[in-house]
Amino acid sequence: MTLLDCQVVGNKILIQNNRLFLAFVVIFIDMEKHLIVQKYGGSSVANIDRIKNVASRIAKYKKQGHKIVVIVSALGDTTDELLELAGQITDKPSDRELDMLISTGEQVSVALLAMALHKIGIGAISFTGPQVGIITDRTHTKAKILKISADRIKEQVEKGKVVIVAGFQGMNADQEITTLGRGGSDLTAVAIATTLNADMCEIYTDVEGVYTADPRIVKDARKLSVISYEEMLELASLGAQVMQARSMEVAKKYSVPLHIRSSFSYKEGTIISKEVKAMEDVLVSGVTANKGEAKVTICDVPDRPGIAAKIFTDIAEHDINVDMIIQNISRRGYTDLSFTVPISELNKTKDVMARIVKSVKAKGVVYNNEIAKVSIVGVGMKTHSGVAAKMFGALASKKINIDMISTSEIKISCVINKKYADESVKVLHKVFGLSKER
Ligand code: ASP
Ligand code: MG
Repeated sequence: MTLLDCQVVGNKILIQNNRLFLAFVVIFIDMEKHLIVQKYGGSSVANIDRIKNVASRIAKYKKQGHKIVVIVSALGDTTDELLELAGQITDKPSDRELDMLISTGEQVSVALLAMALHKIGIGAISFTGPQVGIITDRTHTKAKILKISADRIKEQVEKGKVVIVAGFQGMNADQEITTLGRGGSDLTAVAIATTLNADMCEIYTDVEGVYTADPRIVKDARKLSVISYEEMLELASLGAQVMQARSMEVAKKYSVPLHIRSSFSYKEGTIISKEVKAMEDVLVSGVTANKGEAKVTICDVPDRPGIAAKIFTDIAEHDINVDMIIQNISRRGYTDLSFTVPISELNKTKDVMARIVKSVKAKGVVYNNEIAKVSIVGVGMKTHSGVAAKMFGALASKKINIDMISTSEIKISCVINKKYADESVKVLHKVFGLSKER
């Protein structure tokens, strides 16, 4: 077969010899060109060698003919370091200035990556979030993306360039720079992939995919080849570090095809897809422990209608994210009310609680940040019973006391003493047989 048998017009092959049709179809599929959005996390661009590694990776895909749009995070721990600098000046910096500061990290990485690509002969251009029209609401430090006018990206992609966009940042209607919350480059990637209708959104990190448990804790944790959007959203919300939770909400809503994989190898990672029937046969897909929350208990709150509403309205007005809530049985008209908040919001919570306790005439408030929330997640829970009993039994077998419980359709979480966090993950991983191939 020679090239004369067909004409290659852009992506399409015009068949001139019918007998060769099948052969061509195979080649056609193989050679199909995709629009791929690739997101590289901080660890993948932590230093110049790693940036060069990423550049040669991108070059490889580019040479296969794919159209590539790249989103990058700040180098290594840059964002933490910038926050630390601000902290040396004040513990209450203005949110606007904070965004001015922490958005700089990503601007450094996009420029360096563009240079690394130029150096190896690949046409590339870098942009900030505002430059490619990422418009957000007015909330600083955790802004929501309202729209992306991706014209500039499309124009450059059509010119054959690798387009590199700074993750984590956008601009509001007042032309102020905003950021999208920690881990927000994932959100940038998912949002751009949706806008461009990309064939694949690859999330590059330093682990090979999504595991049944943190491999640093459970030695025989297994990489999942596929997981549903719903499960991944729960895992992300429960503190599994792989994907920003908000980005998973967007990915789920728009069914963005996601592939979580390592930038240090070419092995397949974990595909995130819509739930299929076979997934329901698996009771539990993953176990995770979140040590980042604290428990707040208001003691002897008068047990009257409207009190809980008053308390939680006040807390919500201060933008504090409450997770689990438990109210005890009432004793002689008084009750105890417990809830959990992120440790990072504990100071703010304490200020608010001091006022609430007075206004609702409660006896007092106690805080406990020695807690961990262990959770099991799996779509199979929708259709199988006895999962909770098995989880509680496993914790009991290790004499681990359960303090609070909450459930959703596909998850069960227990609050326990922080010192048993790792042990509980291990025993749950074992009891639910997660190291075995599904
Ligand atoms: N650099 C930002 C952060 O560390 C955004 C990101 O990495 O996705 O949170
Ligand atoms: Mg990061």
